[in-house]
Amino acid sequence: MTTPALSDAAALLAFDREHLWHPYTSMLDPAPTRLVTGASGSRIEIDGTGEVVDGMASWWSAIHGYRHPALDRALREQAERFSHVMFGGLTHAPAVELARRLVEITPDGLDRVFLADSGSVSVEVAMKMALQHQRGRKRPRRTRFLTVRGGYHGDTFDCMSVCDPDGGMHSMWSSLLPGQVFGERPPALGEDVTAWAEGFRALAAEHADRLAGLVVEPLLQGAGGMRPYPAECLRVFREVADEHGLVLIFDEIATGFGRTGTFFAAEAGGVSPDVLCLGKALTGGYLTLAATLCTGEVARGISGSDSGVLMHGPTFMGNPLACAVASASLDLLATGEWERDVRRINTGLQALHDVDAAEVRVLGAVGVVRLDHPVDVAKATEAALAEGAWLRPFRDLIYTMPPYVCSDADVATLCAGIAAAAEAG
Ligand SMILES: *Cc1c(COP(=O)(O)O)cnc(C)c1O
Repeated sequence: MTTPALSDAAALLAFDREHLWHPYTSMLDPAPTRLVTGASGSRIEIDGTGEVVDGMASWWSAIHGYRHPALDRALREQAERFSHVMFGGLTHAPAVELARRLVEITPDGLDRVFLADSGSVSVEVAMKMALQHQRGRKRPRRTRFLTVRGGYHGDTFDCMSVCDPDGGMHSMWSSLLPGQVFGERPPALGEDVTAWAEGFRALAAEHADRLAGLVVEPLLQGAGGMRPYPAECLRVFREVADEHGLVLIFDEIATGFGRTGTFFAAEAGGVSPDVLCLGKALTGGYLTLAATLCTGEVARGISGSDSGVLMHGPTFMGNPLACAVASASLDLLATGEWERDVRRINTGLQALHDVDAAEVRVLGAVGVVRLDHPVDVAKATEAALAEGAWLRPFRDLIYTMPPYVCSDADVATLCAGIAAAAEAG
């Protein structure tokens, strides 16, 4: 094994290729990987390519862009105090301050906060909350979850069990996963929801006595297919959960913090869930942190379960660096600038309707182009980079969820990148 010089791009890439796993890739025959040497504002700097606009915002998290002075400062100041202490039996100002803000800004009633270390863990915790709540309510037979097809909720086993059953993640493990109940995908944005709602209500009624909770991504199905759907469906979810005593879990890991045009996607339907998962943009893309919020009612149910406590506690729970930078990110969001930015980006993304594609979907600061065939990712990536855009297509989808700080020119670059990727891929 040779030691690559940290300044030698070719050596770093060679070592990476030999030893480092990347998301959803083969170790033996990995797809090409590029070396990032810097990032600032809406741009990342790629070795051999130069500066490009980041159309992915680091998987939808870097909403304020890179090296934001306020976020950098929050991180530095907390590092000078202390970087981490265990959360068992101890607490600290960054966690308390973040929890206070989350309770204040989230939909009504969500006032108990669990700080997890990743989105998947926050969904695991949400599902565990629902199960323990039902046990506490003396309904131990309620161990399954209702969801809809086309969803994505993370990569750990319980999360995979509520991902789209026909997606690769789920189907590969189907014999090992808990059997959940899947309703049809909600209709596309603009379509009538009546028939779908009828079917979904009937399915819930059929399985109700075994169901602990209903878990969905509100308003936009993200990694399961980048599909926005009508806000009326959120009211159907709320009604179904109420009618059958299910814990309603909204996974807003992708949609939270303004991405779809409202601060939380739940607001678009005017409903509050019983449990809410937040992640991705929570720290403005700086560090891994997620949160699961629940109502006092759910917390009381959990307290009534045999153990009387919520059985979860990650080593890095409530990490102070992550909490401090999350509060600084919420300060930036509190100025309300995000709303103008998201609207502005939305206007710019309308240019995607000129792309030659099977379907174009634009919601908030999300722009999606669907081709009529699987994208050749390598070719599409090259073509987008040639236009100065970093994109990461998957399946038949080429899309962008850029940082809110993107200028109009950046958004135009991303649209040009998507058009070029669609043509090449
Ligand atoms: C990304 C995502 C997750 C998983 O979050 P990780 O931090 O990657 O574990 C769960 N749910 C949704 C909706 C997501 O977009």
